[in-house]
Amino acid sequence: MLIRTTLSLILGITLCFSNSTFANEQLLAKADTKAEQTASQIQVHVSSVSDTSIIKASDNAAKKVDPSTLPADIVAPITNIASKQVRVSTAPSKPKNMVIMIGDGMGPAYTTAYRYFKDNPETEEIEQTVFDRLLVGMASTYPASVSGYVTDSAASATALATGFKTYNGAISVDVEKRPLKSIMEMAKERGLSTGLAVTSQVNHATPAAFFAHNEHRRNYVEIAEAYLDSDADVILGGGQKYFSDSLLKQFTNKGYQHITEFSELENISQPKVLGLFAEVQLPWVIDDKQGYKLSTLTKKSLQLLSQNEQGFVLIVEGSLIDWAGHSNDIATAMGEMDEFANAIEVVEQFVRESQDTLMVVTADHNTGGLSIGANGEYAWKPEILHNINASPNKIAEQLIGTDDWQASFNKFVGFEASEQELSTLDTARMQGQKQLTKSIMTIIDLHTNTGWTSVGHTASDVQVFAAGPGSRLFSGHQDNTEIATKMMSLLPQISN
Ligand SMILES: [Zn+2]
Repeated sequence: MLIRTTLSLILGITLCFSNSTFANEQLLAKADTKAEQTASQIQVHVSSVSDTSIIKASDNAAKKVDPSTLPADIVAPITNIASKQVRVSTAPSKPKNMVIMIGDGMGPAYTTAYRYFKDNPETEEIEQTVFDRLLVGMASTYPASVSGYVTDSAASATALATGFKTYNGAISVDVEKRPLKSIMEMAKERGLSTGLAVTSQVNHATPAAFFAHNEHRRNYVEIAEAYLDSDADVILGGGQKYFSDSLLKQFTNKGYQHITEFSELENISQPKVLGLFAEVQLPWVIDDKQGYKLSTLTKKSLQLLSQNEQGFVLIVEGSLIDWAGHSNDIATAMGEMDEFANAIEVVEQFVRESQDTLMVVTADHNTGGLSIGANGEYAWKPEILHNINASPNKIAEQLIGTDDWQASFNKFVGFEASEQELSTLDTARMQGQKQLTKSIMTIIDLHTNTGWTSVGHTASDVQVFAAGPGSRLFSGHQDNTEIATKMMSLLPQISN
């Protein structure tokens, strides 16, 4: 009823304004975006008709829409809705498939640092990265007020998966611990396939919010068990230790192909698959001689999920960017950024070829307060990072096990440590691997002039990157909950 009223209102306004001409390109662009927003909000309302007891973000979103109260300056956009809707029948303005990609902890300084890290010093220009190419907007990340302004991955992933704010630690439950419906559950109700590909354990906070409900992110075994009911078609990442033999048996009984070796991936030609390739996390990119793990998992996920004619929703996470950020480890962080960027390029290519896939890339929060330049010096020297061929933790492990550790250190980091640095390392070496790792990272920070303000998260906004049909919905500033509601609005209508 409301939908019909809304549509006739739109048609009426369209007729009124059909003779208007627009000289201003900017206004047109704005108009287009607003039109898409309005269209999406209408769709949000449609999607809310059929659902049941679990709390849905679409309930909230629907309340926000009242086209009759739209201010005069956005009447123009509405004229565009009709043309948008006409276009639906020819080229899709709504995606069939959606891929959400999350760089855990990847605040703006990470993508900027990555640009300079990838810069070719032989050329005067600073080359664009995939992030520069796909940037469309920003998102705030704050959790529910009970947790203040600084979010953790669980609350932020809940926002991105359900459209609701919650407390830090919550996995798709609200502040009263009631389950919140996720986009993956909505996708399943509509006959779409769903999947995840991550570099952490598959049941870590970010993917967990998309496929489980739990009052605490640390309940790893319960979350792993919940995955069985999620009916996800593709589950790829680490986390063997959380899946007992009996749980694995339940997965295989349900038709899942269970694999643990990366080489087995190529034999998987159809869903469902549960691929657990490490006890906990996948190897750090900087230490991984095989390489390209996340992009390989992403490629496989796209290949498997796209077999569903109805479409799919996939989440891909560069999980370990955050972990490197917590350690204040710039060398390891740039390795993880590089592989996340590779995975984004895989999806970007898929979006370009399929033309009916939307990709949205964002971060759940910022980690470490990374600073590109520090200590009052106007410099950042990422070229040093290219010569570091192991993670500080791995270097420390090696240095503890060898007598000729000074020469070994210089070889690992690709620069010569000063006398003073060697003496610091010597002291740290006596204190054990943990302290030595810390000292190595401090020396790398000093050489590259990298700064950090925290070993935890910080509350700055994060960027939003998008491509494909519907991507313009994500431009400008938004809250992270709106990323979810916008994506939900693009799901097909529920049948029956
Ligand atoms: Zn974190």
